[in-house]
Amino acid sequence: MPRIHSMDLPRKVIVGQGVISQIGDICKDLGFKKNVLVFSGKNTMKIAGKHAIDSLENVSFDVVQMIVTRSDNENVLAAQRKIRKGVELVIGVGGGKVIDVSKLAAANERIPFISVPTAASHDGIASSRVSIKGSGPPQSTEAKTPVAIIADTHIIANAPSHLMISGCGDVIANATAVRDWEFAHKLKGEYYGYYAASLSGMCAKIIIDNANIIQKMKEKEETVRTVLEALISSGVAMCIAGSSRPASGSEHLFSHALDLIAPNCALHGEQCGVGTIMMMYLHGGPWEKIRDALRDIGAPTTAKELGLEDKLIIKALSIAHTIRDRFTILSENGLTPNAAEKLAKITRVIEY
Ligand SMILES: [Zn+2]
Repeated sequence: MPRIHSMDLPRKVIVGQGVISQIGDICKDLGFKKNVLVFSGKNTMKIAGKHAIDSLENVSFDVVQMIVTRSDNENVLAAQRKIRKGVELVIGVGGGKVIDVSKLAAANERIPFISVPTAASHDGIASSRVSIKGSGPPQSTEAKTPVAIIADTHIIANAPSHLMISGCGDVIANATAVRDWEFAHKLKGEYYGYYAASLSGMCAKIIIDNANIIQKMKEKEETVRTVLEALISSGVAMCIAGSSRPASGSEHLFSHALDLIAPNCALHGEQCGVGTIMMMYLHGGPWEKIRDALRDIGAPTTAKELGLEDKLIIKALSIAHTIRDRFTILSENGLTPNAAEKLAKITRVIEY
């Protein structure tokens, strides 16, 4: 019997200046009629959330709002209680935390979700996956693909530049994620989608090829659009694959390991970028090209630039394979501390 592959894709992706003030009309076009719940962060409510609410109220939506403080289970449960009071649509306006909490709460309550990012910092903007902090290792959980993504380039261009730089690291990570995926396919017979892998690889290539321009023109809306489109396309590649495989491999395992042993030290995409340099070396690929692109963009390429002690890099490399059951270049026994140190030194992530 032929294998069935199901893809859940966003219905509308709108990227442009001032699009936040069109949210009300966009929601009407999508067929929503009355009760909407808007989640935002403390600061993002002021710079973006309130504009979204004004736009919704202007076209007669009844809007309830809630501030998300952390991406943890407590916030998700509080969000679900709010949803149960009777809404037909959830909108998350903010950064990673807000998007993750509102996306998961909406999925748990089987309510459609619209993603309105205020920074181009990670590829969860368009994917069906979320990362929620619990007691154990940080987990990536399946939620639901947003029905729409509305990205206002004016708001995102005014976000702190290190957020977009981190987003570039998250996209560059696709370069090793697709190699790990192909590796798992060849060695373990895992499903591999050539189209999703090619799309994901292309996103990384565009960021790598435009590294200099991104750095020099990072405040320009055109640059923001390039990075946003790469992040959204990465999310779509995951939707097509039906898993995070195209955008999350051994470099993400390294980043998750750092989250565990050095929480809140650096941003997700910054850690993934450094992980990509080292994992590309293990894959026998052009790791110097990855490092140079990250450097040109202004992203960290060393332990020092991540604000981490060398020993934490070695520890994270040694435990990365235990983070989750995903076959990568680190499988099945991972790196010994000696091999980890050698890898970090050869790639100049830590000093000789
Ligand atoms: Zn990521």
